[in-house]
Amino acid sequence: MKPSRPATPLPSRIRVEPDKELWFADGNLVLVARDVEFRVYQGPLAAHSPIFKDMLSLPQPGESETGSHSPTFDEVSACIRLGHKYQIDHLVTTNMDFLRKFYTDSFEDWYPSNFVRPPTFQAIHSIGVVNLARLVGADRMLPAALMDCCTLGAEIVRGLPRPDGGRETLAPDDLGRCFVGRTRMAQASARIAHHMFRQKTAVGCRNPTCCARVLQRLLNELANAKDDVISCVDWYASWMVYVDGRDEGRELCIKCYRMLEGERPKVLQREVWEKLPSMMGVDVPGWADSMKQEV
Ligand SMILES: [Zn+2]
Repeated sequence: MKPSRPATPLPSRIRVEPDKELWFADGNLVLVARDVEFRVYQGPLAAHSPIFKDMLSLPQPGESETGSHSPTFDEVSACIRLGHKYQIDHLVTTNMDFLRKFYTDSFEDWYPSNFVRPPTFQAIHSIGVVNLARLVGADRMLPAALMDCCTLGAEIVRGLPRPDGGRETLAPDDLGRCFVGRTRMAQASARIAHHMFRQKTAVGCRNPTCCARVLQRLLNELANAKDDVISCVDWYASWMVYVDGRDEGRELCIKCYRMLEGERPKVLQREVWEKLPSMMGVDVPGWADSMKQEV
C-alpha cells in the first residue's frame, strides 16, 4: 500500500469557519468548501446522493441495512438543508418523500394511523419539519406538521434543541398559527364529541330502541366527562375508552359498537381534515378537491 501523502496545510490566510446550520457534533464526515467547514453524517449522504456515494467510494448499502434504517430528524434535516444549499435535488426529494409519508396531505393515508411520526422523531421535531417544508416550499406538508406542533406545550416557544447547542424555533408567524390552531383543534374535538353519539343507529342495528337509549346516555354523560375528553387538542383520539367505560354491560349491538369504533369517527374526522389548512392558517390550493378524488 502506498504511504499516504502528508496533508497539504491550508494557506494560513484562509480561515475555515464551521457552517452555522450544517455542523453536527456527532457527524462523521467533514467537508470543506472554500472557507466553510461542514460536519455531517456520511451514511444518509451516501445513501441518497450518487455524487457523494462515488466520492466516498462506499459499497452499496445492503437490503437489510436500507430496510431497517429509519433516519433521525437530524439526519433528514442535514440532508435536506445540504441538498437545498448545493442544489442536490435527489437528496432533497428522497428525504422530503420520507417526511411526506408521515406528514401527509391525504386523509386516506392519515386516517388509519391517526398520525404516527417517523419512529425516531418526537413531537418537538415537528418544529423542524415545518421549517423544512417552508425552506423547500412543500406547502402541502404544512397542515399536518403544524397540527403536530399544536400538540406541544410551552416548549414550543423555546424550540427544538440543535446538535450544535443552539435552538431551532418556528418563525413568529407560524408560532402565531399554532396558538390559533390549538384552539381550533380543541373546538373540533368538542364538535366531534357532540356528533359522535347522535341518535341514529347503525345500518342493520339489532335492537334500535336499546341502542338509541345507550347513545342518548353516552351523549348526556359528556356533561360529566372531564374537559380533556370533550375538548382535547387531539381531536382524532379514539372514543372507545369513553364508550367502554359507560357501556360496561355492552348493551350496544355489535353493529352500533363498530359504527362508533370506525365509520362515524371517520366521517367526522374527514370533515375536520377538509378544513385543516384553514384551521392551521395556511393556504393549500386544491386540498378539498384532492379529498374528493380519494373517495
Ligand atoms: Zn345497534
